[in-house]
Amino acid sequence: MAEVKILIEGVHKIIGDGKMDIGCTTTLIKSDINIIVDPGALINKDRLISALKKEGLGLEDIDAVILTHLHIDHTLNTFLFDKARIFLRFIGGSSYPGMFQKLAEGTLQRFDLFNDIIAKNVKIIETQGHSIDGITILVKTNNGVVAIAGDAISDEEWLDLNKKADPNIYYDVEKFDESRKKILEIADFVIPGHGGILRVSK
Ligand SMILES: [Zn+2]
Repeated sequence: MAEVKILIEGVHKIIGDGKMDIGCTTTLIKSDINIIVDPGALINKDRLISALKKEGLGLEDIDAVILTHLHIDHTLNTFLFDKARIFLRFIGGSSYPGMFQKLAEGTLQRFDLFNDIIAKNVKIIETQGHSIDGITILVKTNNGVVAIAGDAISDEEWLDLNKKADPNIYYDVEKFDESRKKILEIADFVIPGHGGILRVSK
């Protein structure tokens, strides 16, 4: 089984003046390789480095980074992991299955995110809706399946399928609902894009 640990619990809070505090949740997966999901916002750069240090890991010990989608609050610290393979859904033709990049090498390689294996007990599913490129990482752990959902479920209130999204903000509200349903059926726990781990009531 793999292990999952939240390194940074992201915020998503309106502070007035049309501003919002924004930083995503960053998660470490320990399997046969070490994976970071959503390295997050620049403001959390030092916190991320020290959270990894507490786990006995340096930046160079991270083998892969998976981006749940390409919004800036989830992706900026990716540059820290220049030796890792950076996995993301490609925004473009729908039949293109995904890819990874190596920043230090400046290379890109095609990779079928939904069928090829990144690590043991780690699987990726497509969860569009919040954005066009949304993916969710499913991790088999001793406690059950943990879904690292990014903004497919951005915080606790979106566990409620009766709550509807604003079509002016979301890419596709129907797909958003389908994706949430899919995640809640599979997962025992959800790590949302912003906030701490949530238990799925079955
Ligand atoms: Zn977000």
